[in-house]
Parts: sequence; C-alpha cells; structure tokens
Amino acid sequence: MSLENYDKEIFDLTQLELKRQCDHLEMIASENFTYPEVMEVMGSILTNKYAEGYPLKRYYGGCEYVDGIEQIAIDRCRALFGCEYANVQPNSGSQANQGVYGALLNPGDKILGMDLSHGGHLTHGAKVSSSGKIYESFFYGVELDGRMNYERILDIAKIVKPKMIVCGASAYTREIDFKKFREIADEVGAILFADIAHIAGLVVAGEHNNPFPYCDVVSSTTHKTLRGPRGGIIMTNNEDYAKRINSSIFPGIQGGPLVHVIAGKAVGFKHNLSDEWKIYAKQVKANAKILGETLVRRGYDLVSGGTDNHLVLVSFLNKEFSGKDADIALGNAGITVNKNTVPGEIRSPFITSGIRIGSPALTARGMKESEFELIANRIADVLDDINNQSVQQKVKAELKELAHKFIIYDKAMF
Ligand SMILES: *Cc1c(COP(=O)(O)O)cnc(C)c1O
Repeated sequence: MSLENYDKEIFDLTQLELKRQCDHLEMIASENFTYPEVMEVMGSILTNKYAEGYPLKRYYGGCEYVDGIEQIAIDRCRALFGCEYANVQPNSGSQANQGVYGALLNPGDKILGMDLSHGGHLTHGAKVSSSGKIYESFFYGVELDGRMNYERILDIAKIVKPKMIVCGASAYTREIDFKKFREIADEVGAILFADIAHIAGLVVAGEHNNPFPYCDVVSSTTHKTLRGPRGGIIMTNNEDYAKRINSSIFPGIQGGPLVHVIAGKAVGFKHNLSDEWKIYAKQVKANAKILGETLVRRGYDLVSGGTDNHLVLVSFLNKEFSGKDADIALGNAGITVNKNTVPGEIRSPFITSGIRIGSPALTARGMKESEFELIANRIADVLDDINNQSVQQKVKAELKELAHKFIIYDKAMF
C-alpha cells in the first residue's frame, strides 16, 4: 500500500514539507539537498537487515550483500579523505564524536574545544552535552575580529594540559589551520581531533586544507556540505585508534547499523569523488563570497570581515535589532537562516546579535553568483526596513518565483 493511501496524515505533512523546501530559500549553513539516488537507497529494503558488527565480522547471518555495501562505503570514504581507516556507522555527527571520545578518553579526562558561543559545537565539551558531563571541558574561542588566534590557543593549552584538543566548528568563517593545531597539540602532548562536520565537502574537493596528515582522528557529518544522507563518519590513520573507535561505536554506543543509510553514504561518496563535485564545492565558496561582499556593500558588518568557506556571519552589534528579529523578518520573506551569537555578544543566546547564512543548499539547486547577489540585496532590503511587512511580502513573492526556476525535486518522486 502506498503511504498516501495508508497514512494520509504523514503523507500530507511530508508533501507540505516538500513544498516548503521548494518554495523557500534554504540558507541554513548546515543544511543541504541530498541526491534522489541517495534517498532511493535510504528508502529501500536495506532497512530490514540487522548487521551488528563490521564487514566479515557480523553477529548475524545473511550479511553477504550488506558486507559489500559497507565495504564500498568504507573504501570510498578512505579514498575521499586520503586516510587508512574509516568507520561509516555513526548515526549522526554527535554520535561520531561520542564514539571518538569513548575510544580515546577516560571519564574525567580533560578536553579543550571551541566555545559554543564562539562557533564551536555542543559536542565539543558544552556542559549540557554528555561531552561536558563525562569529560572535564575547557574552551578557546575567537578574538573580537572573529578569527582564532593560534598563539592564544597555545597559551590556553599549556595551562589546561588537555588529553585531547578538538578543532572544527559550526559557525567559523575562516579556514582552519590544522598544521598550527598539530604544533599546539605536540607542544602539550595532546591527541588532536578534528570535527569537520561543516567543511568536509570543501575539504574533499581541495577547497579547504585537509586535516590529514595533521590530525590523529577526524569526524564529520555526511549531510552538510557533503550533501549525502543524514549521518556521521570517523577516520584515522592510526591502527590502534581505529580498533578502539570501532568498538566504541559498536558495541559501545550503537546497536545494529543503519545499513540503508550506510548505502546512502556510499552513493553520496561516489558523488563526492566525481569531477562535478569539485565544481560544486568551488561554486559553494564563490556564492558565499559574493553574498558576503554584497551585504558589506549594503552596509552590514560581517564577523571576520568576510568568508573563506560556505557561510557568512552577519553582526548586528551596531544595529537596533537582534539576530532573532532578523531571523523572523527573513523567515517572513521566505529566506531561512538562523540566529547566531557574535564575538563581543551583548544579547542572550536566545536573542543574539547575528545571523548565520550558508550557501550549500541553494548551490545544490544550481544557483550561482548572480542569484546570490540578488538574494543578498533582498536580505539587505528586508533588514534595512525590518518592521515593514509589505517589503517582506514583496521579497517573498519575488524569491518564490526565483526558487521555482531552480527545481531540486520532482513532485512525482514522493
Ligand atoms: C552539525 C555538527 C555536529 C553534529 O551533527 P549531528 O548529525 O547534528 O549530530 C557535530 N559537530 C559539528 C562541528 C557540527 O557542525
């Protein structure tokens, strides 16, 4: 029976979400549109199979075909990042990180990560996350200019003496220097762990420096700039670490792997390995750049003054309105972004003085510099007159028309 006939409530809400994704301009920096063939395999019979363990070392019979699928995902992942070992089973980026910590740390060990309010992720030691409850967490951040100062990070590392340094961020607009982090880790004898959840799609295209060979362990999501299915991965060149990571994921924190998602990761990696991928990643960066430049021309301040990657952070510290106000006004105009804290923040984390805007999803729809320049101008139009609902309505209508010129999904697919 079809979903439409069996469960109209869920079918209808899914259709409405499809329409929302098609009509709005998706500019949340962590989101993307995955490929139809990735969704096809994620919706397949592979979801029926239990495959606890790893290829050729399973706890269940009948794994001969899913072994092949997981091995292909592992091999493509290794080829993509240029590393020896990959675990493709983490169900999410957060579980990948939990797996890394469980493999290489003992409860109470010290970790040093980027502060959440400076662009780090919850799983880098925030007190509300298990990473901040199980381990003793310390933080570095960015300077008022929005950039990391590696000498300052070294000073903090020397005082903290962490067992592990976590580098990587969810809202950082500049290239991360993994070599500098290696030098810091070596000076204090720490394990260096890079979480490249946001930038992995750029890394594999050579549009951002690679954490290998500098980092001991690397984790990522597969659904952000990599444009694959929702999930996580862990990579390393260290054989001992690789064994510990495998046990830490299963049986440590997960049970049967999501074989249908692992298959989706394999299909996504095939895209990531292609020549077209390099073109996409270049375009993601070019689009973020012109978005930022146009906003600056329109009088808006960017954290760090610009961007090296797929996102910009707009600061409203010198404006009357907050990040929350901007988020709501842009939402009314059909542009989805998220509010974000900025260096020197004066408002609460629920209000904030900034927004984060990313280019990966609209680039996946085929938009280029001219569209991003137009969108940046419309963002500025809305923000310039933030309480004017007729501006918001007008922009919404114009951008819906633009969105419909860049079809991403065919209605018949669902
Ligand atoms: C998104 C993100 C994660 C977590 O990924 P989930 O799949 O949402 O759990 C971890 N680290 C960083 C840096 C991220 O940006």
